[in-house]
Amino acid sequence: MTDSNELIRLSAAALAAKLAAGEVTSVEVTQAYLDRIAAVDGQVNAFLHVNAEEALAVAAEVDAIRAAGGAAADELHELAGVPIAVKDLIVTIGQPTTAGSKILEGWHSPYDATVIKKLRAAKMPILGKTNLDEFAMGSSTEHSAYGPTRNPWDLERIPGGSGGGSAAAVAAFEAPLALGTDTGGSIRQPGAVTGTVGVKPTYGAVSRYGAIAMASSLDQIGPVSRTVLDSALLQEVIGGHDPQDSTSLTDSFDNLVAAARTGNVEGMKIGIIKELHGEGYQAGVENRFNESLELLKAAGAEIVEVSCPNFKYALGAYYLIMPSEVSSNLAKFDGVRFGLRVLPKEGPMTIERVMGATRAAGFGDEVKRRVILGTYALSAGYYDAYYGSAQKVRTLIQRDFDAAFAQADVLISPTAPTTAFKLGEKLNDPLAMYLNDVATIPANMAGVPGLSLPGGLADEDGLPVGIQLLAPAREDARLYRVGAVLESLLEEKWGGPLLDRAPELQAPALDAANTVGGSN
Ligand code: GLN
Repeated sequence: MTDSNELIRLSAAALAAKLAAGEVTSVEVTQAYLDRIAAVDGQVNAFLHVNAEEALAVAAEVDAIRAAGGAAADELHELAGVPIAVKDLIVTIGQPTTAGSKILEGWHSPYDATVIKKLRAAKMPILGKTNLDEFAMGSSTEHSAYGPTRNPWDLERIPGGSGGGSAAAVAAFEAPLALGTDTGGSIRQPGAVTGTVGVKPTYGAVSRYGAIAMASSLDQIGPVSRTVLDSALLQEVIGGHDPQDSTSLTDSFDNLVAAARTGNVEGMKIGIIKELHGEGYQAGVENRFNESLELLKAAGAEIVEVSCPNFKYALGAYYLIMPSEVSSNLAKFDGVRFGLRVLPKEGPMTIERVMGATRAAGFGDEVKRRVILGTYALSAGYYDAYYGSAQKVRTLIQRDFDAAFAQADVLISPTAPTTAFKLGEKLNDPLAMYLNDVATIPANMAGVPGLSLPGGLADEDGLPVGIQLLAPAREDARLYRVGAVLESLLEEKWGGPLLDRAPELQAPALDAANTVGGSN
């Protein structure tokens, strides 16, 4: 039997191989991760809920099927028995779903998201639900109503957001895989600052049915992992057409794992986006970015420069379109249909007043800020000037991508302008917080896929730097093909996976470990 400390450090693909070979059982693997969560999550706070009993039951079921052999064992999915964590924006039967908000505290969904149904069909034990900025609004996970998640590389720093819980869980070896959602970068930017891989698939490649909507025209569920191949494996599990999501594509996206396994960049054109690096980007981020370009060039890729002049308006347009959709999507949290209900202390008990009292108490500042911004942008008299103009900018961004992809097969940039900042550093400065997403937002505006992978450590602070690859819509396989090559070149250069160099988390005193996760 493999030592549990070694077990939790294996990639999902390696775990799957060990499970298939009968070298380890899913119960052993799942228990090893649950033990790790109990030992370190008191410090990291990646999980809002731990689903130990059900995860172990699924693991035992997989083990029994494997032990019995025969057709049922042959039909098991490759990832059967490999555990996973799920961002708490995705609804699940049998576990609470909070969206990181007080307004949904204690709420249980009566149905499973499509991606959850797919995880269950593949028999992947679900370890629990991970922390996030409230309703996925933020870049640091500090806007969670349940306290911030901490970056395993430095517990005084943010793990990115909104999916900081999923990224930190994977970086801290509390899960081999996780699901995130990405509306403006919430899978990729946490990936960048925690040294993990995060993918935003093509819009429509993965069903959004059961992901609590933030901004429906931008939202996309995607994988979080430690290797490029692991994300490809997971995207193939969760992807595919879903009649319950009217924006779901009919493409099969079943070429992703093959692409990751046969990575090759020879003769490929890789375009540096002029507007997404240089001024405003941390020196150590630029250095690692340039190093990746050199590696790709040496591997036979042609590096070209492309210009996307309208990307400079992307952030501004995003902060009109996104809040407009937020204000509409969050109107359903009215104190009647879901979760929290707060009654006014005095005066008439009208529905408007109950709604007002509930939303005042249940929503945090960032959510309120965006609802106000969105209702303003959509109001009569301002609609054309704000929302209408932002939609025009969105078209221009899509045209910039079209022109860039006429010159290059994939595009490349740093994922985020800086490494992980300190907790509290940008909390009271929303504009500074928003600037984290300059490089990730364009992909959501155009629906194209993006992948972030660890590009090494910044010279000045020793913290992870993310490299972002972008491909045309429906060409997710290209990201995995190029990503797998860059990952192996970087591992060669750095002498192994980046996460091997993260500081060891010390197990805290027992009572601290017991307060998080295990009890609920
Ligand atoms: N950080 C961005 C925002 O605050 C993106 C969020 C997301 O992708 N869910 O809107």
